[in-house]
Amino acid sequence: MLDGLNLNIGLGGETPATESETGAAPRPDVENVIIIGSGPAGWSAAIYAARADLRPLLITGNEMGGQIALTTEVENFPGFESITGPELVERMQSQAERFDTEVLIDTVTEIDVNGPPFTVTTANERVFKTKSIIVATGASPRRLGVPNEERLTGRGVSYCATCDGFFFRGKDIVVVGGGDSALQEALFLTKFGSKVRIVHRRDQLRAGATLQRRARENPKIEFVWNSVIEGIQGEAKVESLTLKNVVTGQTVETPTDGVFVYVGHLPNNQLFEGKLAMDEEGYLVTDKLMRTNVPGIFAAGEIQDHRFKQAATSAGQGVAAALEVEKFLADLEDRAYPGAG
Ligand code: NAP
Repeated sequence: MLDGLNLNIGLGGETPATESETGAAPRPDVENVIIIGSGPAGWSAAIYAARADLRPLLITGNEMGGQIALTTEVENFPGFESITGPELVERMQSQAERFDTEVLIDTVTEIDVNGPPFTVTTANERVFKTKSIIVATGASPRRLGVPNEERLTGRGVSYCATCDGFFFRGKDIVVVGGGDSALQEALFLTKFGSKVRIVHRRDQLRAGATLQRRARENPKIEFVWNSVIEGIQGEAKVESLTLKNVVTGQTVETPTDGVFVYVGHLPNNQLFEGKLAMDEEGYLVTDKLMRTNVPGIFAAGEIQDHRFKQAATSAGQGVAAALEVEKFLADLEDRAYPGAG
């Protein structure tokens, strides 16, 4: 694994070992494929690209593992009846590395889509040329956009029950949203909280039937229907919320210790604005072969999928993108050396 920080700064003033000194084959001047993102789409693409001998370089991004790494329990990834999100990601990573994927812990800050070769630049000022790219940057939790939400994030406002649930032992907790994430994480939070209220803007849940049944049967869970959060109050930490009933228009202030927000996601598309085609919601546009509008640049997972959004579908899209990259590179080679082979 390459560590972007160590490679650039070094530790204790020493020059870091190069790949040839560590026995690994040197990287090519122009990579075959760079995979941007380390969620299920990215790792699955890496496993397939590596097994096709493409020696992929995967750049992890800030949030190693993506959203699935923030999920407490995964029960619907084929082959695993129950596994934690972080463990699933660890397994994907070790499988990808076993097949010769180079992993760089760094964040892409810029891509130049005029190519191939394309140019990829990272936060640690590494610059790579590559014949192809698989974008697997995923999506990030949508914020509520209410007063004090940002200021109190990490002080009672959270988007990750796995990370922060432990701090709410015996406390009053509010979860916002009516989808699978809200219910799944609310159920997890009942291990810690004295009570978990699920605040939903409608009177019908979007979540699947199994999670609905479990949540309705859990004695610690209460539903607050037809309600939205208008404000979060507190000095050093969350102390209360302003709830508005959207049917009656009535507003109440209710004390609580924590607010966990699960109101959907927004695609991580900042790198691609003005460079790759997006739909009106900001998702990258791909065809069935996972191709973006720029030949040689593919996309997989939630950066281009606002319909299925499952770890298993993202993994499948990553596989498809890697298979198409293989074909794209073979065609590129044929064009460079017509008649060869
Ligand atoms: P989601 O399905 O998009 O649900 C978002 C929820 O937040 C909806 O109930 C929505 O209300 C509500 N919402 C949206 N904007 C809001 C706002 N501004 N204020 C208040 N409420 C708002 O998102 P998700 O639950 O994160 O799930 C994302 C995808 O991952 C889905 O495809 C889901 O099936 C999948 N997932 C699956 C599992 C599992 O299978 N166990 C677990 C987690 C996630 P409305 O219902 O009124 O639109």
